[in-house]
Amino acid sequence: MELVKESIKNLKEYKTNNNEFKIKLDANEGKNILLQDIYKEGIKFNEDFNLNFYPDNDAYLLKQEIKKYLNINISNIIAGNGSSEMIELVIKSFVDKGETILSPIPTFSMYSVFSQIYSAQFIGIQSNEDFRVDIDKLIEKSNELNPKVIFICNPNNPTGNLIIKNDIKKLLENTNGLVVVDEAYMEFADGSMVDEISNYENLIVLRTLSKALGLAGIRLGYMISNQKIINIINKVKSPYNLNSISQYIGVKALENKDEIFEYIEAVKKEREFLYKELNEMKIKVYKSYANFIFFKTDIKNLYEKFIDYGILIRKFSDELEGYYRVSVGNKNENRMFIKILKEIIENEKS
Ligand code: PMP
Repeated sequence: MELVKESIKNLKEYKTNNNEFKIKLDANEGKNILLQDIYKEGIKFNEDFNLNFYPDNDAYLLKQEIKKYLNINISNIIAGNGSSEMIELVIKSFVDKGETILSPIPTFSMYSVFSQIYSAQFIGIQSNEDFRVDIDKLIEKSNELNPKVIFICNPNNPTGNLIIKNDIKKLLENTNGLVVVDEAYMEFADGSMVDEISNYENLIVLRTLSKALGLAGIRLGYMISNQKIINIINKVKSPYNLNSISQYIGVKALENKDEIFEYIEAVKKEREFLYKELNEMKIKVYKSYANFIFFKTDIKNLYEKFIDYGILIRKFSDELEGYYRVSVGNKNENRMFIKILKEIIENEKS
């Protein structure tokens, strides 16, 4: 008997980069500046929470902090193991076998991976040559294909481009499907849809603590939507999905949320520095609204050459062969990245 289910027969494992490194610029992890108290004082496990009990299924204290962070109601939030779990929950809750999921491409790969796992049909709509999303084309395709869910990554990973709010509203008003706006990188841009959730029946916004809040290690993401959608997804969510330690650390970080604004400004400034430097090197570089930069170059094996220097960046394949994504690091890391890139280019000439 064939034990493996049909939909995952051709699925490839999500491979992460396990190379040794001196500087890690491949996964857009932010720097963690919010947990100074915990680093100083440690966690007092038996005082702060009791690990022999299951975690709070409603993540109440965490939602209180998210409420203050985004100025929303706690009844509009579901939290879990990274926004990755939120992506899966949306598909699990709303998409039946064979139904269509639409997204502009290139974009974050997990929309199509989860689509495949749940036997949905993922259709990618190619963005413009400069990777901007043509919203009218997307609406036209949506009318033609009638998707159950449309994923919009905004700002987009890996290209860094941003769709303006009015375009997203236009899409929301012109589709019968759910529009999921993945705002994993929105802290580095302007134009969040969070304050629009009560205006639309079909809007879900995803956020994460992995990027601007620098906490990729605790796997904490959340979604924001109207009560009707939240009620449905709460029925599907696994009980106690978010462990006590992540809840606790999420609360501690968000209590210090005011400190991230300086960090965000620093990232934006460094992003500008990287853009300018790459541009001056005659490398095709794309304007980014996130904490990474997307660029294209003909230098052969650039990724491997960087690894020789102990620097990890992200490479792409197939249609995106020759394109790379580098996270915005701190000042030293970015200067080191540029210095080594210049060195690699120099070596190419000799
Ligand atoms: N959405 C986007 C657009 C991402 O780039 C990422 C991380 N690479 C995620 C979601 C997942 O983030 P997490 O599960 O850490 O919240």
